[in-house]
Amino acid sequence: MYEVVIIGGGPGGYVAALESARKGLKTALVEEKKVGGVCLNVGCIPTKAMLYCSSVLTSASGGKRYGLAAENISFDENAADRHRSLTVSKLVKGIENLLANRGVDIIRDTAVSVSKGKTVCKNNVLESENIIIATGSRSADIPPARFDGEKIISSDQAVTEQRSPESILVVGAGVIGVEMATYWSSIGKRVVLVEMLGSILPLLKDDRVSAVIAESLKKKKAVVLTGKSLEKCEIQGNMVKSFLSGGDVVETEKVLIATGRKPDSVIADPLVFKRDSRGHILTDDLCRTNIDGIWAIGDVAGEPYLAHKASHEAEVAVSAMLGEKTEKKNLAAVPSCVFSDPEVASVGLNPREAEERGITCIWGEFPFSANGKAVSSGMIEGFARIVARKEDHAVMGGQIAGASADLLIGEISLAVRLGLRLEDLARTVHVHPSLCEVIPEAARVALGEPLHR
Ligand code: FAD
Repeated sequence: MYEVVIIGGGPGGYVAALESARKGLKTALVEEKKVGGVCLNVGCIPTKAMLYCSSVLTSASGGKRYGLAAENISFDENAADRHRSLTVSKLVKGIENLLANRGVDIIRDTAVSVSKGKTVCKNNVLESENIIIATGSRSADIPPARFDGEKIISSDQAVTEQRSPESILVVGAGVIGVEMATYWSSIGKRVVLVEMLGSILPLLKDDRVSAVIAESLKKKKAVVLTGKSLEKCEIQGNMVKSFLSGGDVVETEKVLIATGRKPDSVIADPLVFKRDSRGHILTDDLCRTNIDGIWAIGDVAGEPYLAHKASHEAEVAVSAMLGEKTEKKNLAAVPSCVFSDPEVASVGLNPREAEERGITCIWGEFPFSANGKAVSSGMIEGFARIVARKEDHAVMGGQIAGASADLLIGEISLAVRLGLRLEDLARTVHVHPSLCEVIPEAARVALGEPLHR
């Protein structure tokens, strides 16, 4: 008998397991594939390892300007692949060791159903006071192009294949599509990126940000087609012929379908569990499902599909399970980042979203091209924006398209979470010269007190 059984060893599940074991609960973690889940094995980590390799190539190729004297710079995909797989195996091993050291029982099995106090797996039946469902999500294909494991591929394949295709059609310009298009175009592959909606990264609802990334992909010679959908694929010999709406025909070695993912919620009987129309398990702000003692976290419990959202919910669930006085889940302060070139990070509301919610807001934007560190390091693309409620200057969100956006967004996330005001960001002294100076500068623009603009 366990105190907690957690199903799924991704960032939601393993963080819940580490936390519950740290707090003294007898914990089991059921995982059918690999500890680390999508994030460590076929998601966040391998893509970032690949993108690091391509960014080294990009820097070196532009290095002459900064004094690098090197001829015939080329890219060794075998070495990059080795870096990716070593990174993944090192981090997975690290998590397995942490779980073992905390005394978590890792049960290598597939859960087939859950009910109050009972997890039925293919080879085990586990009893526990509490169950956390953290089964994540999987790639979904579309009727015109079904995954065939060879020519029409998912991101799982894209990040594990040793050799990149010479040419590829990427269908869907969301986060995954844009990151893969960035990688392949950076290493010289022929990329066509097609998006059904009017702009790339459409879910960000931010035309300025989409334009920065579309421009950067075009500089890498990727073809970006928006407002077009895939109608049909035909495999002809070694190539795939893809027919797009409007009559375009694209011929490539492979097609990546990156149009979306679906929750892995089959173990939660829809007649018992409340689920939304897409199959996510519905939870309250403490991650409780409608069944007492059963919790759901991470991708299976709804969007945004982000590893740090899953681990945030893991901490909330374990804490609530123990009856601790805990913060409720706060998705408004969960940042996201697209690891394009430059990166795009955002948290909370942008001006359009604020308007849609009837919030009168003010905002300020500051370009990287006016930041000393960015200019001295040749990273002048993009801008930072801070959005605040007009009435009291409370920071409602921020968007950064530019170098190190993944780091810079942290300060704005903190401001959103703590309800800080524009004045707090503007008056906080930042290192000079540093990229993070774009934040007080943007806050000052919003306040109508621009300094370097
Ligand atoms: P998952 O990581 O999906 O893990 C679920 C686990 O449950 C899996 O290991 C699965 O095998 C197991 N499982 C499922 N069903 C069962 C069962 N019945 N029995 C036993 N085990 C089961 N997010 C970011 O924050 N940053 C990024 O940079 C980023 N990049 C990404 C890149 C790609 C290509 C992809 C695909 C995703 C990326 N994501 C990123 C999203 C991120 O990976 C997910 O949001 C995150 O992994 C979700 O964590 P999770 O714990 O909910 O589930």
